[in-house]
Amino acid sequence: MSIFDDFISLFFPHLCVGCGNQLFKNEEIICTSCLYKLPKTNFHIHQNNPVMQIFWGRIRIHSAASFLYFAKKGRVQHIVHALKYKGRRDVGLLIGELYGKDLKSSELFNTVDVVIPVPLHWKKQKKRGFNQSEIFGQGLARSMHATLDTQSLYRRVDTETQTKKSRIKRWENVKEVFAVKDEKQLEGKHILLVDDVITTGATLEASATKLLAIPGVKVSLASIAFANQ
Ligand SMILES: [Zn+2]
Repeated sequence: MSIFDDFISLFFPHLCVGCGNQLFKNEEIICTSCLYKLPKTNFHIHQNNPVMQIFWGRIRIHSAASFLYFAKKGRVQHIVHALKYKGRRDVGLLIGELYGKDLKSSELFNTVDVVIPVPLHWKKQKKRGFNQSEIFGQGLARSMHATLDTQSLYRRVDTETQTKKSRIKRWENVKEVFAVKDEKQLEGKHILLVDDVITTGATLEASATKLLAIPGVKVSLASIAFANQ
């Protein structure tokens, strides 16, 4: 995305966030052609899919899936970019609602009670103004008829300041980055933990570990895109 593209989308929001083409009157946010061509993974209908495989031997999760394959400079990157860096909440809600319908029709995900977005550190959220995973989660919760919980899981440490440390050191830190409060109300629930893009899975592993310590919970994972290929 160039400065010119940013300028265009600021003043002409009636352009498709996937391809940049003009939207027809009956289209909103993403054009019909892009919707049709979205590179869906369909991981939600296969228990042992590539997202699940990331977590094998690491954590005991119930199910895991990503909506789309991520490719640099492709439609999916434009969509994630619009949500994350241009504050296009409508994009996150739409993607969440679309994916929620798929998940609701899957036996692996149709018992989800609570949707919990991976939290940002409060300083970062204040700076950005919103949490992109929360917007996606809001769309998911809506079409899955589940509750959105943005309070129970929180980030204790601001990991932005730790990027210079070695990978192992960072992992040691990331393990203690998240914490859970009011555990009681999550007991026995099927929790869907959501993030924007899954790459190494380290953030999801660290946050899921905290949730898995709650008695009787099932934890499943979902993201907008999958970039570990
Ligand atoms: Zn398009």
